[in-house]
Amino acid sequence: MLIEENYDIKRLTSFKCGGKIKKVFFPENIDEFVEVLNSNPDVKVFGNLSNTLVSTDGYDGEIVITTKMTNFTVQGNRITADCGLKGPKLAQIAAGVGLSGLEFMVGFPGSIGGEVFMNAGAHGQTVEDCFIEAKCYDKEEGKVVTLSKSSMAFSYRSSICQALNLIVLSAEFELQKAFKRDIDAKMNENLSFRKSKQPSLALPNCGSVFRNPEGDSAGRLLDAAGVKGLVIGGAGVWENHANFIINERNATSEDILKIIYVMYNEVKEQFGIELQPEVRYLGGNNKTEVEICKKLKMIK
Ligand SMILES: Cc1cc2nc3c(=O)[nH]c(=O)nc-3n(C[C@H](O)[C@H](O)[C@H](O)COP(=O)(O)OP(=O)(O)OC[C@H]3O[C@@H](n4cnc5c(N)ncnc54)[C@H](O)[C@@H]3O)c2cc1C
Repeated sequence: MLIEENYDIKRLTSFKCGGKIKKVFFPENIDEFVEVLNSNPDVKVFGNLSNTLVSTDGYDGEIVITTKMTNFTVQGNRITADCGLKGPKLAQIAAGVGLSGLEFMVGFPGSIGGEVFMNAGAHGQTVEDCFIEAKCYDKEEGKVVTLSKSSMAFSYRSSICQALNLIVLSAEFELQKAFKRDIDAKMNENLSFRKSKQPSLALPNCGSVFRNPEGDSAGRLLDAAGVKGLVIGGAGVWENHANFIINERNATSEDILKIIYVMYNEVKEQFGIELQPEVRYLGGNNKTEVEICKKLKMIK
């Protein structure tokens, strides 16, 4: 297994921002992954780092990156995928065998583990819709457990894994038989929608910065609060949609967190609504960042 020390992680993140990580494990299969989890109780787990802001000042601990774990099996209308497989790849695999239900995964760069953890969703579909069960590593118990859909407590961008520190090893989905041409058409429709409404990865970003509050849209509130075009250091709020931050010119994580905090405060002051960040944070060495993250409840 590849293990890197003092590893500069910036290029692996979709924000193209980040510093040095003390130790990074890249397991290639579930056995190796479980071995790392058993022997490193404090290790943190990440997939494709498409929803994570990594501190420019790095992280003095150990992490796992799962993206070398890409096994999958297809049995009838069920597909089981390792946590590191990327969503767009799994959507193509499903389409290739005439199975519908994962078309929403085609347009954003998460790993299956990250998507189950976040209950990712788009275009009216979410992970929970076709989820059957996941094999997870229970950090408290130090063992592998199987969680059915009813045990996952899925809700908007949330699953039980967030509250109970469960690590997703693999997940099984039940899909519907459909014509490949219809599945491809739906995926193309999803991709065109994204092209018109969201920044491509050529503009480094992490997707939506804030969750939608109940009954409203974070983008609408942020737009009404006038944050579009706001710039701090190398980071800017995207001019076409106010819930996206673009790393425009080599932004530091502090630039990005400062802009997130201004966005949060503008909406709070003007509308009395406290937006909740969807993006996650890995860091801890920069005092200003830690203070902002605490205020935004991104860390305890
Ligand atoms: C351009 C763009 C568009 C996006 N559009 C959408 C969208 O439409 N809908 C949507 O829901 N999201 C969207 N996202 C956000 C992101 O892709 C999703 O949140 C995705 O689920 C994150 O997966 P990841 O592997 O990159 O997670 P990471 O960023 O690596 O991790 C995110 C969180 O998941 C945890 N995690 C990762 N892997 C595991 C695992 N195996 N077990 C337990 N915990 C784990 C991490 O600890 C972290 O807390 C978008 C992002 C980008 C960059």
